[in-house]
Amino acid sequence: MLDSKCIFCKIIKKEIPAKIIKENEHVMVIEDIHPKAPVHYLVLPKKHVININYLQESDFNLVTEMVKIVQEITKNIQDSTGKQVDFNLISNNGEGAGQSVFHMHWHFISGKNLYLDGFKL
Ligand code: 5GP
Ligand code: ZN
Repeated sequence: MLDSKCIFCKIIKKEIPAKIIKENEHVMVIEDIHPKAPVHYLVLPKKHVININYLQESDFNLVTEMVKIVQEITKNIQDSTGKQVDFNLISNNGEGAGQSVFHMHWHFISGKNLYLDGFKL
């Protein structure tokens, strides 16, 4: 289920440290080591899946768990007006798309408008 050479699996097994924001049986949310925004978390399944292309039918519950933990997190982060924060979820799948750690993850980004900062879709 976990890969002994994978950095995120090592974090999941608590073999190397990370700032853990939230975790449960299925998923873990950690702070990105090089945050690109005031809030930059990584949402990881506690199963070594390389990226979305490698997800099997039996893994789809993990995606639901990832969405659920994102909702739990946004409930606890308010902007300066007390409103639940707006956020981006970004998923790089494959080297050509910028993936550098080959354990599926979503970047949870908040507190920075990427589009005002030159990011385009
Ligand atoms: P990717 O480029 O694969 O979409 O994103 C990988 C992310 O993992 C990068 O934003 C990078 O800063 C982060 N990262 C890489 N190694 C570590 C680590 O050891 N700990 C933490 N917390 N984040 C890491
Ligand atoms: Zn892994």
